[in-house]
Amino acid sequence: MASLRMIDIAVNFTDNMFKGIYNGRQCHAADIPAVLTRAWSSGVDRIIVTGGSLEESKEALAIAETDGRLFCTVGVHPTRCKEFEESGDPERHFQALLSLAKEGIEKGKVVAIGECGLDYDRLHFCQPEIQKKYFEKQFELAEAVKLPMFLHMRAAAEDFGEIFSRNKNRIIAGVAHSFTGSAADRDKLLLFDNLFIGINGCSLKTAENLDVLKAIPIERMMIETDSPYCEIKSTHAGINFVKSMWPSKKKEKYEQDCTVKGRNEPCLVRQVLEVVAGCKGVADIDQLSKTLYHNTCRVFFPHDLDSAADALLASGHDIQ
Ligand SMILES: [Zn+2]
Repeated sequence: MASLRMIDIAVNFTDNMFKGIYNGRQCHAADIPAVLTRAWSSGVDRIIVTGGSLEESKEALAIAETDGRLFCTVGVHPTRCKEFEESGDPERHFQALLSLAKEGIEKGKVVAIGECGLDYDRLHFCQPEIQKKYFEKQFELAEAVKLPMFLHMRAAAEDFGEIFSRNKNRIIAGVAHSFTGSAADRDKLLLFDNLFIGINGCSLKTAENLDVLKAIPIERMMIETDSPYCEIKSTHAGINFVKSMWPSKKKEKYEQDCTVKGRNEPCLVRQVLEVVAGCKGVADIDQLSKTLYHNTCRVFFPHDLDSAADALLASGHDIQ
């Protein structure tokens, strides 16, 4: 248990729920430090905080600067891509993202461009033409700063695949996070040798989801929570494989040492690991955690691969 080592690659710490605000109502004090304490004591040792707009990316960077184990992304989520044009000057908006990314890299904090991609489930926020235009534009950002991409793909596998294949050689690697696609979508993504698949509670809801998961090679996988969203609920197919539970309270009865019912948080990435292990029939969960850790370091922390490699060597695994 103690040797599990995990990185949660998707945490929305800029979300109001981590400020104690639910549907506009303050239910408890902001509590990221308490959430982090639980994460570190569960075997999580790094977290990537998601930025989904220029402003949110600034906030994500400020949060990442509060702890040596926190990192972040800079980019614009598909549902927010109208902000390029609403800014009045898309090119200036792009330059602002670029300089924020450079600043964050200098500080050792920005490890990916994103979250960006395509979301055709939520077209009411942004039309597909605008989504496509600025998804592609953000490859330019990743290329300019030589960072991998943190990607979002929802109900858009075809266009996503087309844009990715046109641009894949401009970037080091990418991860399609919060994967909820079909077996065909999975196979399409796996054809790109520099693309990884991020699994969270939303990827583990149904029996079909679990079938899709079974054929994702562990070497191409990362785990995440997408907190405060995508928790594994008791009605989800994956729940039967969950072993670790934390005491939880309703938000109205908040206690600092408990998780909040309905709010996902990074310590729960361990449940994702447990479902992946159970579903794929992996007996050695330690080894699984190390392989996933190594994948994540290779993409997001290439300058710091030694610690991940040591962990693998200690367990007798081959290092590529
Ligand atoms: Zn997403």
